[in-house]
Amino acid sequence: MTENNLRQLPSMDSLLRRVRVQDLVTVAGHLRVRDVLREVLAELRAELRKSEAQETVSSLRSDMAQEIERRLNLRLHQQQRADTQRVINATGVVLHTNLGRAPLGKDALEAINRVAAGYCNLEYDLASGQRGKRGTGLTATLCDLLHCEDAVVVNNCAAAVLITLNSLAEGGEVIVSRGELIEIGGSFRIPDVIAKSGARMREVGTTNRTRLADYEQAINENTRVILRAHPSNFRIVGFTEKPELAELAALAHRHQLLLFEDLGSGCLLDLTSLGITDEPTVMQSLAAGVHLVSFSGDKLLGGPQAGIILGKAELTGRIRKNPLMRALRADKLTYAALEATINAYVRGTAITDLPVPVALQTSLETLTRRARRFLRRVRAVSDRLVWQLLPGDSVIGGGTTPAATLPTMLVALTSTQANADQLAECLRHNSPPVITRIMAEQVTFDLRTVSVNEESEILSAVRSLEQWLSQPGASANSAP
Ligand SMILES: *Cc1c(COP(=O)(O)O)cnc(C)c1O
Repeated sequence: MTENNLRQLPSMDSLLRRVRVQDLVTVAGHLRVRDVLREVLAELRAELRKSEAQETVSSLRSDMAQEIERRLNLRLHQQQRADTQRVINATGVVLHTNLGRAPLGKDALEAINRVAAGYCNLEYDLASGQRGKRGTGLTATLCDLLHCEDAVVVNNCAAAVLITLNSLAEGGEVIVSRGELIEIGGSFRIPDVIAKSGARMREVGTTNRTRLADYEQAINENTRVILRAHPSNFRIVGFTEKPELAELAALAHRHQLLLFEDLGSGCLLDLTSLGITDEPTVMQSLAAGVHLVSFSGDKLLGGPQAGIILGKAELTGRIRKNPLMRALRADKLTYAALEATINAYVRGTAITDLPVPVALQTSLETLTRRARRFLRRVRAVSDRLVWQLLPGDSVIGGGTTPAATLPTMLVALTSTQANADQLAECLRHNSPPVITRIMAEQVTFDLRTVSVNEESEILSAVRSLEQWLSQPGASANSAP
């Protein structure tokens, strides 16, 4: 019987001639469709060989080609969903690392468009008509804005720490407090990065308390760098102590060592008015006498993924000459977007022009007003869903302290027909996917990270949700 069943499988050629399959070829390409068809055929062959699956076999036999089309379509769709695509971030996490961190401002987007659509002067000096250096304009702007001697841009902040330590401390020792041996999401661990830089880590102090004397006692003839790492998404509270940055700088100067601070977020704006008091700004670090600082382009700065190293020209010169520079350098899109982002700070319009500062500054009053209006709109398109307002907190994210939250007004969704996980899954299947946060069995929408234009897209996702719930047996199955 098995051979007989297998003979019923349509041939690849006959499948490729079918109209529906041809449509999919137009979208996904001949090679991809053929590969997936092969997988589907192999899968069916295996199923048909299982003699105990008699019923499946007979139902399959009824229309084998149609079943193959269904599976082909599903697989292609799943593959397509894995492609990088726009999503709506309704989580209220402003710098969501899984969702691409900082959205860019309008100027940065236009700048990317201008340099990406054609050629640009990435490494070309327009004055001399000769080969030039990457990012000379950006360096000059950063130095002006932040009163430092030089600036180097690399692919991200992890790369910045790696190349800085490798350039300044390879073969020597780096002193770091045990309270700063942190791991940041995505497996960036300070001890591992120091090891990869070719330097040896010399840990001092304890998890909660490290004194200036601890640093001083660890200094020996192999010491090259004192590293201060911002604890980012983690805080030690209670019985704690660490030296002021200026004290560390004085110690480094006394012993002719280098003080390097990995700031992580790289805040240029004073956020104390938002209740965020432990995010040192880049200017404060430089003013305290740090030789070099590093920070990310796509955290609080609100720009593209990048790592920025600022400080003494003698040291950045060593970084520029490091062969690792070629492996870690940033591309033209990054330069274009970063320049436009930094220019907003130069103009003093970052607070109104850049999505991250805008999202951070949006007041509870504004958010409550938007939430009320949104509540009226969603209630008008749904009678199977239950909506209410819920006071809550937006999270800043992106390596800021977890305690750094901002008061917000959430729009919360429940249904008697489906649980929160099912509702959230259905919203993720929308195009564009809508990403929400589940709290206390409710699906919550935080408009702090949703643009006004995206509200109507969420509304249409809610309509699909209604439709799904109105299908008989919807609650028994998982989301579509
Ligand atoms: C986030 C962070 C990094 C890594 O930055 P990326 O830009 O993600 O590579 C490094 N150090 C600190 C202190 C951070 O907070």
